[in-house]
Amino acid sequence: MSVRPIHLLGSPVLREQATRVGEVQDEIIQLVEDLFDTMNAEDGIGLAANQIGVTRRVAVVRAEDDDQLVLIDPEIIEREGETRGEEGCLSIPDVFGDVDRAQRIVVETTSLGNERIKIEAEDLKARAIQHEIDHMDGILFIDHLSPLKRRMLVKKWKKLHKGEAGHIKEVTAAPEPSTPR
Ligand code: ZN
Repeated sequence: MSVRPIHLLGSPVLREQATRVGEVQDEIIQLVEDLFDTMNAEDGIGLAANQIGVTRRVAVVRAEDDDQLVLIDPEIIEREGETRGEEGCLSIPDVFGDVDRAQRIVVETTSLGNERIKIEAEDLKARAIQHEIDHMDGILFIDHLSPLKRRMLVKKWKKLHKGEAGHIKEVTAAPEPSTPR
């Protein structure tokens, strides 16, 4: 297992378009493990490969405790409804904003066993998946806010993180075994 540093707002990799994976090889399985380790260490509900500096279309989501989801080359094939809810991001820690997302989605994704599978998700899980797929296209949740809201949030974030060098945050591994909450 290994925990990777997380790229923060300002790091160019967060704005890059990630490339398709195609067939799942060992390096992708390793990447998925690292994403889970890093996400769990930070107590997040989702993490995309861009956020650890890898521009591949891979992300993990854990919207509920026992429901770990792997996204590889995901495509949303159905969307329904709209719901507004608060989002945050491990790459923009300590600030939150309300974002409109589809309430229910069906996403087609490649499993670790190399099969295209369909996953239906609603509410928080659907929101997390849409947030992670955005990362693969270089989009951050603050991009969905009004320009005024976005400016305020970025200003607040810069103030909170004033004096921190660079755009990469070192992550400390979660204590083993991790306690379920
Ligand atoms: Zn994020």
